[in-house]
Amino acid sequence: MRMSKLYMPTLREVPSDAEIISHKLLLRAGLIRKLVSGVYSYLPLGKRVLSKIEKIVREEMDAIGSQEVLMSAIQPAEVWKESGRWSAYGPEMFRLHDRHEREFCLGPTHEEIFTTTVRDEVNSYKQLPLSLYQIQTKYRDEKRPRFGVIRSREFIMKDAYTFDRDPEAMKEAYFEMWKAYEKTFDRLKVRYKVVEGDSGAMGGSDSHEFTAMAESGESNIIYCNDCDYAATDEKASTVLVMKDQDIELKEMEKVLTPNIGTIEDLESFFSTTAESFAKTLLLTVNGETVAVMIPGHRELNLIKLLKIIDAAEHEIEMADAQTVREVTGAEVGFAGPIGLKKDIKLYVDKRVTEMKNFVVGANETDFHYKNVNYARDFEGIVVEDLVLAQEGDLCPKCGAKLHTDRGIEVGNIFQLGTKYSDALGLTYLDKDGKSQKVWMGSHGIGVSRTMAAIIEQNYDEKGIIWPLVVAPYHIIITVVNSKQEVQSELGEKLYRELSAKGYEVLLDDRDERAGVKFNDAELIGIPIRINVGRRAGEEIVEFALRREEQKHEISISEIEEKIKAEFKAQGL
Ligand code: ATP
Ligand code: MG
Repeated sequence: MRMSKLYMPTLREVPSDAEIISHKLLLRAGLIRKLVSGVYSYLPLGKRVLSKIEKIVREEMDAIGSQEVLMSAIQPAEVWKESGRWSAYGPEMFRLHDRHEREFCLGPTHEEIFTTTVRDEVNSYKQLPLSLYQIQTKYRDEKRPRFGVIRSREFIMKDAYTFDRDPEAMKEAYFEMWKAYEKTFDRLKVRYKVVEGDSGAMGGSDSHEFTAMAESGESNIIYCNDCDYAATDEKASTVLVMKDQDIELKEMEKVLTPNIGTIEDLESFFSTTAESFAKTLLLTVNGETVAVMIPGHRELNLIKLLKIIDAAEHEIEMADAQTVREVTGAEVGFAGPIGLKKDIKLYVDKRVTEMKNFVVGANETDFHYKNVNYARDFEGIVVEDLVLAQEGDLCPKCGAKLHTDRGIEVGNIFQLGTKYSDALGLTYLDKDGKSQKVWMGSHGIGVSRTMAAIIEQNYDEKGIIWPLVVAPYHIIITVVNSKQEVQSELGEKLYRELSAKGYEVLLDDRDERAGVKFNDAELIGIPIRINVGRRAGEEIVEFALRREEQKHEISISEIEEKIKAEFKAQGL
């Protein structure tokens, strides 16, 4: 491709809503453009990268015998009502009506569609196992679309669905998918960790997330260096060692704590640490207020709470000041378990029941109780674990200290069990003619998100550094001074020859200053660079790799050998 013809609108300035590097570089290098919040267009370079990622995903799916299909983005409401997710999915679902007032959505995912499609055709054990996938556009009206194509409202996902005769076969399909994902992300040169995930709204029993490691990522992961334990912070179960406790129960006392609302204020007022307090958090779930108690030095794990109360994420929020006043009779900051409005359900993290002589809010503005003890002074619904895991917690598997890291969820695999086959009536007849449930799995890869994740792991101050495998072009030939005939002629010759050999080559034949050309080459991150400059007459060019600083002057006869060496170095 000649750059004089390439549609590559680069930008000097980055729009202010681009917070992270991949978003900035995708815009600056002219790979994507925003249409509206969370909706992007892919320009030629972006489309090429996307297609390359898709190709690898497709090859690895095909390699495990999954068959490609393509389902509609428009989905009728009926199947979602049948599965119960029409309401459960909440405001993240884009909904629409046709001219006959029939309801539809733009598919955020396709469990319902695949299950009903298969239900209508599959009835015998002979048709199982079955694995189908698609690479298709998904729609989710995210609460906070951000980070460009990482959390967008329209995005490309590979979603695969597996159908098996029994739970063992479902698990086998799951591990096969796991292996295929490892191959996919290895080939894409993504540095990732596989962590236990929460199955959330998807339902089912077991799930793992493939997390591309990046500081900018929204996933917090917890892992152990001594064993293989790794999970998202939401999924991780916490083992808390509470500090040494007094043995004797002291008498409860009401204490005047004027203008003291935060844990930090309380720590200095009572000259103790947050571990000596129990926080009472008030939340509104579908209009009803619930209270949750956890040790004062820890954060609430909302996902664990949602499971206990059987609610979806969009159905819960922190109670507003008005509600707090109504249920506690006090201003915000003084909620506690004693004297809460009668019908409020109080969920108590088990560790609180093990604490002794702790401090809680008194449900009265400017007052706290000290020397409070569970059972003697109040009771609630005790829950095993409601706190978010954090750095330094103990591994639930081996007891070593856990570590934390951040990343971007690029893929996940779910064992769905029979959730959807039960709800939508997908069964098969076994060898004896008996009706059996189909065991399912659902497995996604964020194709467009992966493109951004690769940039998050491969860039420098000058721009993107694409790995060869997904680079929009392998090689860029920069004619340093296009006005010099000998330079442009050699550039043309190399362009023709290398293209004929099957390499994907960009020829910068633009009538621009050398500095502009070099900057663009670095910004768009083409892995192999050949600069045709003042020694063109001697058939000597400058050869450089985007991932390295050094440039080498070489004879054109050595070029191919150098290119091959780089392909080899990158495992191609
Ligand atoms: P997240 O927790 O980041 O919202 P999710 O758990 O909702 O992700 P899934 O429903 O499992 O995601 O979707 C499968 C894959 O699709 C994810 O692993 C992710 O890579 C990608 N994905 C999900 N939501 C988005 C989005 N809004 N924009 C881009 N990619 C997304
Ligand atoms: Mg999501």
